[in-house]
Amino acid sequence: MNTISAEKFYGGRVCKRKKPKSDTNWVKIHRVMPSHILGPTQYWKEFSKQADALAVAAERSTKTDTLCTFVYQRASDGSRKFVVAHPEVYWWYYRAKPQEQRCSYEVIPKGSPCWLYLDLEYQIKLNPLCDGSRMTKTLIDIIRTYLLNHYHLLCDRNSILILDSTSSEKFSRHVIFTMKDMAFRDNSHVGRLIKTIYNDIVLYLKSDSSQPHGILKPFNKTDIEEMIVETATHGKKLFIDNGVYTKNRHFRIYLSTKWGKQSYLTMSPDCTHTLLNACKEKELGIFLDSLISYFPNKPNLILLEFLNCSNVTAQLYSKILTQTVRKDDNQTSPYPEIDKYVRSIIDPGKIRVTKYFDNTKTVKYEIYGNRFCENIGRWHKSNNVYWIADLNKKEIYQKCHDEDCSGFSSVPKSLPEEIIFMLDTEGDILISNVTIDGNIISKK
Ligand SMILES: [Zn+2]
Repeated sequence: MNTISAEKFYGGRVCKRKKPKSDTNWVKIHRVMPSHILGPTQYWKEFSKQADALAVAAERSTKTDTLCTFVYQRASDGSRKFVVAHPEVYWWYYRAKPQEQRCSYEVIPKGSPCWLYLDLEYQIKLNPLCDGSRMTKTLIDIIRTYLLNHYHLLCDRNSILILDSTSSEKFSRHVIFTMKDMAFRDNSHVGRLIKTIYNDIVLYLKSDSSQPHGILKPFNKTDIEEMIVETATHGKKLFIDNGVYTKNRHFRIYLSTKWGKQSYLTMSPDCTHTLLNACKEKELGIFLDSLISYFPNKPNLILLEFLNCSNVTAQLYSKILTQTVRKDDNQTSPYPEIDKYVRSIIDPGKIRVTKYFDNTKTVKYEIYGNRFCENIGRWHKSNNVYWIADLNKKEIYQKCHDEDCSGFSSVPKSLPEEIIFMLDTEGDILISNVTIDGNIISKK
């Protein structure tokens, strides 16, 4: 008969104590969380690579136990470590840390449901007259109006969690819309919605006041104007950071500070949030509610989608799961919209293989069935051509495997506008390609 390890016997609920070697194991040094048969899994594992951590978190999550991936920065040198754990377990160890060492982030996994969240900021020195609290309120009201308009969702003020880590230099807030059983399909949908609202606001402010603007009509122009701040590098812009909707985004958690700083995310005094996760410990409840991508009851979630203003949907999570079991082939890149565009320009050719290069932000498309090379103006007899999509420049160009064409690149063409729009809501680059004092610099 095989012997069963204690861990197996208790279904992984037994916490094995290991001697800490370095400060890598900060959390486990002094305390061990008491485990209950009905409590969350005590699973805890640290990784140096994010991809490994995300894969394990997805793999080990069950119907009753949702694991999350956290990142913490080591006090000693600021290096980042990834931890996969149930949020309640993470909290148990995290809150025991000395305050100045609380430097943790949640990883918002790409493709995972998430709350609507905002990162708001401005430099206080450059904007001495700004009233951040009033600006936050105006923005929240605008977003509530969009939710009502697009999804017929009434979002109560008490559903909105406002965390603040404003310092003497910088106004800084996280705003999280925690609507029971409602989430966005993933953060790219949130990004597109926020970017759209951002653009609408900018257009509204530039418009002639006699011209009524649909959704924003009920809002006072002066109140909206107040949300425009001066920045050191981008001129005037809204105080919304549009860059926080990228894939696998790190988002600072409750009571954490940025490494080397001393400003902690705490509950904002003007926050009237009512806890969704009713816990014995109030602080734990705030922490759980504030996590952007933690949903203990996923099958009942209604997922909101936002592709553009006229393409807005809501559906049940469990339905979507069965619809989109995506094949993991290498004919598709992380950018299905670009794949589709490439297919249209290489017809009758097909994509043989795609490869995404994170360092250069380019996607390479190997083609078969169409050997037309712009360098020679006709088909090659035996060598294939390939295409490169450059996500930074938002361009695409053709290259060639023929020896005579080595070093050749075709004249780049701009990606279609709708793809650029999607890239902008995802990329770090965009931040504000719409500025107030300049013209709209978005590419036409
Ligand atoms: Zn060629």
